[in-house]
Amino acid sequence: MRVLSGIQPTGRFHWGNYFGAIRQYIDLQNEEASYYFIANLHALTTVRDKEQLWQNTMDAALDLLALGLDPNQANLFVQSDVPEVSELCWVLMTGTSMGLLERCHAYKDKVSRGLSAGAGLFTYPVLMAADILAYDANIVPVGSDQVQHIEVTRDLAQSFNHQYGEVFVLPQAKMLDTSAKVVGTDGEKMSKSYDNTIEIFEPAKQMRKKIMRIVTDSRPMEAPKDPATDHLFQLFQLFAGDEAKAEMAAMYRKGGFGYGTVKKALADAADEYFGEVRAKREELAAQPEKVREILGDGAAAARQQAGAVLRRAQEACGLKRA
Ligand code: ATP
Ligand code: MG
Repeated sequence: MRVLSGIQPTGRFHWGNYFGAIRQYIDLQNEEASYYFIANLHALTTVRDKEQLWQNTMDAALDLLALGLDPNQANLFVQSDVPEVSELCWVLMTGTSMGLLERCHAYKDKVSRGLSAGAGLFTYPVLMAADILAYDANIVPVGSDQVQHIEVTRDLAQSFNHQYGEVFVLPQAKMLDTSAKVVGTDGEKMSKSYDNTIEIFEPAKQMRKKIMRIVTDSRPMEAPKDPATDHLFQLFQLFAGDEAKAEMAAMYRKGGFGYGTVKKALADAADEYFGEVRAKREELAAQPEKVREILGDGAAAARQQAGAVLRRAQEACGLKRA
């Protein structure tokens, strides 16, 4: 399998990013080929402060490496270091209908939240398609919010292939059953841009504070509760082993507990879960040259692959001759 996925440096990574996507990156990194990139071109549609964008990009690299991404197995790089993808994006854009992009949820959601809709935001799925197709990826590990974008990628690839012959590999989304959509402190999808995140590398005290603020319902303490529909429980089960999960579920069904108890258990579990990677991140943060070198090597490998696919597409549609 050839694996590709990207993550935006729009802010610090959160539990949704980890359990929905990053954990899969690590599980899949020793496949035939794996490419993981920090999507700074996508982030540029929302992060307009240059220091912030750069800092976020470097933080993203440190976070991914600390969480277990191994540069000896996977190619880790920054999106804008592979200009071939932007060229491929244009080629795809010429075959993209406005209607297809108008139907994309991420665009519609951002607009409905009052974020301004630039052409970059609107055409975001085409750049994403170029990212995926440039590496001949067949598997794209993501959270459920990205499924539609991968469908768009397949549509664009199929219509190009239909017109010009078999140029692109059709990719498939890969999701994890229990964490394809992790909820945030407000019960909505946890998202860097919705201010409802709990960050992976949040200082322990601050993390606890945020956990205590997670919104819960106001059912009486005595009432039995259904763990399957409770978002606090959904968060707890991300960290808990089978036994702890079963115990907590039994407590829910019995009733007679306060949500404060669950929040405390969640904070303890999260502290323990991310304890080790915090230390590893600090170690890596002290070696910025090493991180830059890893990103440089990753980009070189990525350019080679993306260049070959771009060339294939260019020859297929008459931009270049073999
Ligand atoms: P933004 O708000 O800037 O879009 P984000 O938090 O949605 O940021 P992305 O960089 O867009 O993060 O997404 C990176 C990866 O994390 C994608 O694969 C996405 O599907 C996944 N992901 C993001 N949020 C969640 C979530 N709440 N649950 C599961 N997966 C998620
Ligand atoms: Mg997103």
